[in-house]
Amino acid sequence: MVGSSPEDILMQVRQPVQVVTAQKVTDGAGVHIRRAIGTPLLEDLDPFLLLDEFRNDDPAQYVAGFPDHPHRGIETVTYMLAGAMRHGDNQGNSGRLGPGDVQWMTAGRGIIHSEMPEQEEGLLWGFQLWVNLSADEKMSAPCYREIDSVEIPEVARDDGVRVKVISGELDGVTGAVNGITVSPTYMDVTLPAGCTFTHQFPTGHAAFTYVFEGAAEVGKGMEAHTVKRGQVAVFGPGDEAQLSADETPARVLLVAGRPHREPIVKYGPFVMNTREQIVEAIDDFRAGRF
Ligand code: FE
Repeated sequence: MVGSSPEDILMQVRQPVQVVTAQKVTDGAGVHIRRAIGTPLLEDLDPFLLLDEFRNDDPAQYVAGFPDHPHRGIETVTYMLAGAMRHGDNQGNSGRLGPGDVQWMTAGRGIIHSEMPEQEEGLLWGFQLWVNLSADEKMSAPCYREIDSVEIPEVARDDGVRVKVISGELDGVTGAVNGITVSPTYMDVTLPAGCTFTHQFPTGHAAFTYVFEGAAEVGKGMEAHTVKRGQVAVFGPGDEAQLSADETPARVLLVAGRPHREPIVKYGPFVMNTREQIVEAIDDFRAGRF
C-alpha cells in the first residue's frame, strides 16, 4: 500500500472492463455511421441501447438522411457537433438542430419521424444515443424536447478541462435536460494534454465513455486502458471515473444512467420487453395507430 493515501483506499476507481471499437455501418437511407453500442461486440449497456457517431464531409455518405421511420419503447437523443439536421414527426413537432444543439425525443407508445441533413455540402457531425424506457413507460405519450446550445451549461475547471453538461450534475451545475427516469449523465468533456478529469456517477449507474477526438487514458494504475478515437470504454463498479489526456488532447462523451434490469426484445426501431409486444408494435404501426 506504499503511496496510497487514505482517500485512495476509500475511493474505488471505476476501471474500464470492456473497450470496443465502433463498427462502420450504414443506416437510414444510406448514412455512413460508426456504431459504438448496439453491435454484436456490445449489444447494449442497460439502460443504453445504441450509440452512433455520424461524421462525414462527403455528402454522398449522408444526404439521403433518415426519412420517415417509427420508434416505440425508447428515447432517442441527438447531439450535434457540426452541420444541421431537420426533424419532423407525426405529432406535429419540427425543428432544426445546429451545432451544439440537443434533441431529447421520447418515443413512448409510438412516433413516426424523419431526421434529414439540412445541408448538401460540408461536415455533418453528431451522435445519437438510445435510452431504454422502463416497462411502465414504454406505452407513455410521446414527448419531444429541443435544447439550444446556449441552454447547455459549460463547466470550466481551473486546469483547462471543459465540460458541457447536457444532463446530470457536475461541480454543482445541473445539466440542461432533467426529469428523465434513468437520471442520465450526458457530458461532452474536453481534456487538454496533460489533464485528468474525475467524476463520481450516482451509485449503481452503468457508465461508459466514447472518445471522439484524440485518445484518453481511462482508469488508473495497472487496469487503466488507452482508449482511442472511435472506441468506447465501459466502466466497472466503483466510485470514481478517471480520464486523462497525455501528450495529445482528447474529447469524449461521458454517459451514465440507472439500469432498468428488465428483459429487452429489440426489433429495429422498436424496443420492448416481450416478443408479443414487438408483434403488437408492428401491427399498430402497419394499421396506422402510431
Ligand atoms: Fe429516429
